Amino acid sequence: MGSRRNFIEKLTVSAVGVPILYHSSNLFAAPEVPYEGPILKVAIMGLGSYGTRVAEAMKDCKRAKLVGVISGTPSKIKDWQSKYGIPKKNCYNYENFDAIKDNADIDAVYVITPNGLHKDQSIRVAKAGKHVICEKPMAINAEEGQAMVDACKAANVKLLIGYRMHYEPKTVEVIKMRKNGEFGKVKFFQGQSGFTIGDPTQWRLDKKLAGGGAMMDIGIYSINGARYMLGEEPIWVTAQETKTDPVKFEEGVDETIQFQLGFPSGAVANCLSTYNMSNLDRFFMTGSDGWVEMKPSTGYGPIKGRTHKGELDQPHITHQTLQMDGMAQLIFEGVQPIVPLDGEEGVKDMKIIDAIYKAVETGDKQNINL
Ligand code: NAD
Repeated sequence: MGSRRNFIEKLTVSAVGVPILYHSSNLFAAPEVPYEGPILKVAIMGLGSYGTRVAEAMKDCKRAKLVGVISGTPSKIKDWQSKYGIPKKNCYNYENFDAIKDNADIDAVYVITPNGLHKDQSIRVAKAGKHVICEKPMAINAEEGQAMVDACKAANVKLLIGYRMHYEPKTVEVIKMRKNGEFGKVKFFQGQSGFTIGDPTQWRLDKKLAGGGAMMDIGIYSINGARYMLGEEPIWVTAQETKTDPVKFEEGVDETIQFQLGFPSGAVANCLSTYNMSNLDRFFMTGSDGWVEMKPSTGYGPIKGRTHKGELDQPHITHQTLQMDGMAQLIFEGVQPIVPLDGEEGVKDMKIIDAIYKAVETGDKQNINL
């Protein structure tokens, strides 16, 4: 990860067109533009693999800073304190973190724990009066997601979901091209999202903590991608499940699901979500006047892609750095990314997942009303 950041001085334009300068040790680098606005002070809850990735990426943020942690493991708290210079007064565990309400040094809590814990933890953060940033999937069904939206509204705090692709430069470019009509009338999207999952004892294969299987974890990228690539909300879904290993993938933990989404314009999406195939990270979209293929399309990058006009050559910048700076800008200045990433956006994906599971269970086409 570090080496990516050390490449070259990269000047990018955020999703809303405000230049943000990301630096490196390049000798020819232009002088850094000092940022003097407010800094979003963030505590991370859940110091696991993705929490660590976010913490590392935040070292390069201009508008956001890691200042606190919430963890059940005292040794990890100690490690993080020394690694990221976190003061003791900003360290909490899962029992006492409601006390964060009295801590003026923390503006937001980023919930990066197993999916099944997101709802209760996010609602506790909201009740403590702090903004909630929550990882995808925001919850394990739409009802839980809506409860989070309601709690954050009642507490007058923001709820933002960790949809890092909404700030990724090549993705943003493709969305702009579609908005400008460069693909003509978009007609078809194909999303393939999957990997071969390892350790059978991990929480991702535990229905209670994961809420499901591959669909919750990785299939959601094709769902969200279908929506932001085509720029419409689906009105129906059909889905078929294949399970080759019922021991590893227990009842309620999906291994492989193919699903199809229909959109009001007549556009369709055909997607695959799996925990049992490797190298599946590809988006394709075609319209009356052009096409785009992205592969990889949602991994940590660099994202690669080409359109009927040629290669996408926007710079790679660590996704989570862009995301956290973007979220800070959203919270302080109300600046929205090109595609929203608020709680309502998260609930839409949860409604689609609910409908996909229902379509698998019944074998019937399900209508969706977003
Ligand atoms: P992980 O297992 O590496 O980390 C989870 C953390 O939660 C660990 O530190 C663990 O100790 C803690 N935890 C607290 N209570 C727990 C409990 N009851 N059981 C198990 N762990 C508990 O998982 P991860 O890969 O960091 O995923 C965490 C969240 O982040 C998930 O919601 C996942 O979907 C999301 N995620 C998002 C992305 C992305 O690109 N946006 C990537 C990876 C993970």
